[in-house]
Amino acid sequence: GKPICECYSCYGGNDCSLLLATCPADVEGGDPLFLEPFWIQNAANSAVVVAGWHRMSYFFPNQSYISKELEKNIRKIHAIAKNAITDGRYIVFGVGSTQLLNAAVHALSMESSSSSPFTTKVVANKIPYYSPYKFQTEFFQTLHYEFEGDSSMLKNKSDFGGNVIEFVTSPNNPDGNLRNSVLKGPNVKTIYDRAYYWPHYTAIPAPADEDLMIFSISKLTGHAGSRVGWAIVKDVNVYKRMMDFIDVAEMGTSKDGQLRALTLLKVVAQGDDKQLFNFAHQILSHRWEKLSRIFSLSKRFSLQRIPTQYCTFLDRIREPSPAYAWVKCKRKEDKNCTEIFRVAKIIGRPGSKFFAENRYVRLSLLKGQHDFEMLISQMKKLVSQEGGVG
Ligand code: PMP
Repeated sequence: GKPICECYSCYGGNDCSLLLATCPADVEGGDPLFLEPFWIQNAANSAVVVAGWHRMSYFFPNQSYISKELEKNIRKIHAIAKNAITDGRYIVFGVGSTQLLNAAVHALSMESSSSSPFTTKVVANKIPYYSPYKFQTEFFQTLHYEFEGDSSMLKNKSDFGGNVIEFVTSPNNPDGNLRNSVLKGPNVKTIYDRAYYWPHYTAIPAPADEDLMIFSISKLTGHAGSRVGWAIVKDVNVYKRMMDFIDVAEMGTSKDGQLRALTLLKVVAQGDDKQLFNFAHQILSHRWEKLSRIFSLSKRFSLQRIPTQYCTFLDRIREPSPAYAWVKCKRKEDKNCTEIFRVAKIIGRPGSKFFAENRYVRLSLLKGQHDFEMLISQMKKLVSQEGGVG
């Protein structure tokens, strides 16, 4: 019959519980549905009911766009995860962290433009990198800034010909490695995209303490659809310019989104306050282990290397548990890795979307259990086909 709800791809039937056998493993996107079972376990205490009259205003009390309660809980979660220093820092909310990427570019490029005749150059740390840095910066380009690719062209220069903003993604999307800025000097500002700097995805060697760091609820609780992100900012003027950006672009972010985020973070922080982190870390480290074992049997494909590291959150050395597998097709003739995987019924994101060669493909490990299981079973088939050939 007609489904009662919209089913995710690969599911059908009346209540979307029927697995469609013909389906490929869709591991293209970064939808963090692996966290869904945690919220099913916590369904009652994470539910949000909002009466029709509630929070109708553009503002929270004191003409603020920001829920002070949510801000307080964000600081608390960072203290629990030991992943960022928030004392004495300002917090700006955005529509996802996506909006804050450009808010940060705007704020940092205005820093210098009154005194400098040059347009600020915006660069990404290193290839492979997350593509919105380029597409957003180009899309919104103003007289104050322009995108210049990755930092390799500027790396060995002593004079950058003006100011530079460098995006550093740490851990990196797609390869999960912790990264540091490449460019240094008085003319360089850095935006640290810390979307994946949670115990789910990486060792936390020390709390992050950069001037401008961007986080998101999408990769923390899995609620990408709520579109709630935040920036932690040291400098008051940068903070004010980012707030101006949000004011001009949006008149503040959704109060409903903030209310939902608050409810979720309260669940994360309550009782055994490591519960969500342990849950997420366990799933992803298990997935990585399983996938690594299959790749260890392959001569044709390889996975990225991520060093084991001491984690202050777990208080021990830990194995990797990245959000994505960054796969290399090693045979000379395998120039289009995504296509090889597509034929094997695994849909990944091509290396070129990260400005790398197409002999790389990114596979998401964040999706629901079904897609992961499909990935494992198709991957086993693909690797077993190598026998004798490879
Ligand atoms: N930064 C990185 C590195 C990401 O991978 C993502 C999401 N895939 C984002 C930012 C944006 O996330 P959101 O807008 O949902 O907060």
